[in-house]
Amino acid sequence: MQVPLLDLKAQYASIRGEVDAAIREVAESQQFILGPQVEAFEREIATYLEAPHAIACASGSDALVLALMAYGVGPGHAVVCPPFTFFATAGAIARLGAEPRFVDIEPEAYNLDPVALEAYLREGTELDAFSGKRLDKRSGNLLAAVMPVHLYGQPADLQPIVGLAQRYGVPVIEDAAQAIGARYDGKRIGGIGAVGCFSFFPSKNLGAWGDAGLLVTRDDEMAAKLRMLRVHGSAKRYYHTYVGINSRLDALQAAVLRVKLRHLDAWTAARVAKAQRYDALLEEAGLLGKVAPPVVLADRGELIRTPDPMRGASHIFHQYVVRVPRRDAVREAMKARGVGTEVYYPLPLHLQECFQDLAWKKGDFPVSEKAADEVLALPIYPELTEEQQRYVITSLAEALQT
Ligand SMILES: *Cc1c(COP(=O)(O)O)cnc(C)c1O
Repeated sequence: MQVPLLDLKAQYASIRGEVDAAIREVAESQQFILGPQVEAFEREIATYLEAPHAIACASGSDALVLALMAYGVGPGHAVVCPPFTFFATAGAIARLGAEPRFVDIEPEAYNLDPVALEAYLREGTELDAFSGKRLDKRSGNLLAAVMPVHLYGQPADLQPIVGLAQRYGVPVIEDAAQAIGARYDGKRIGGIGAVGCFSFFPSKNLGAWGDAGLLVTRDDEMAAKLRMLRVHGSAKRYYHTYVGINSRLDALQAAVLRVKLRHLDAWTAARVAKAQRYDALLEEAGLLGKVAPPVVLADRGELIRTPDPMRGASHIFHQYVVRVPRRDAVREAMKARGVGTEVYYPLPLHLQECFQDLAWKKGDFPVSEKAADEVLALPIYPELTEEQQRYVITSLAEALQT
């Protein structure tokens, strides 16, 4: 049997009629950039995300850049983010000339650790008597924002993070690229911090047919500024309030996204059901350590653990991630059995070549480093069958024996 990591063709087959008709409609209109399709998508997704304002843009990476630009982030600034995330989180900060200031994750949900964040803000920053703002002691840069990531579809622990950011006088920008629709304290993520950033990269839970992204905010002024920044800082054509960028959404992408948005809740429910089935299958196979701390398998001294959803938060299972010993060998053995897996992410960002000038070293963020060595994402998508899931877990169990 073959079980691919992701099967977008199966999804297309299930919505072919609807999505083909939507594409034809755009073709007939010959209106491709922003316009009525994008406006309709913005209204519909704002309702879905329970946010007053939704501003579409060209990618999730651009959404992050635009959010930071709206706060004037640039050289001489530091923005807190975890080192265990997709590159774009830190890349957006660095691209604007600011410093990604890494703070470690917690080992259960792999998200920014509020305890580590508090320790950093208390000990790693100081009040600058001159500006009245917080300075990062290590670099001397001005603290400009905190950017938590909702990794794998599970919300970061926003309540303490937002509280700390408020106490230290900086906004929270949520990197919500992997967690569309997830809730924290009953609220949709993205709209809990000052600005939330989403990605519709094709493999995300809500995927376009190319690049696409979105910003949400509760703040009217911020929304107006973001709308300008995505079109060269202009509200009235050829008159420029800010120096912005070109980051517009295509009508074709909006048309696809509008169709898919109607299915998102059903797809999320299916993903959650698949995750629960994986939990049950792992338990059946004697591989499940249900809660932290991880269960050590008595016979082999090995451990494996499933995600441990945080209380009060919902997980949309963008990924279903287990931790395994000898991860790369296990992955190879599963591949030989026809099972696609992936490692998100093998090298934490503080150890990336492009960030060498930040002068971090191995051992600086141990929780992220350990996660990078152990995590393995199993296939998860709404169309995955029970038979396929049984095969994945059998293959995993066999791979662990090899
Ligand atoms: C996908 C992703 C992004 C970037 O989105 P693109 O649309 O690919 O630019 C940013 N952050 C995280 C955590 C992501 O997973």
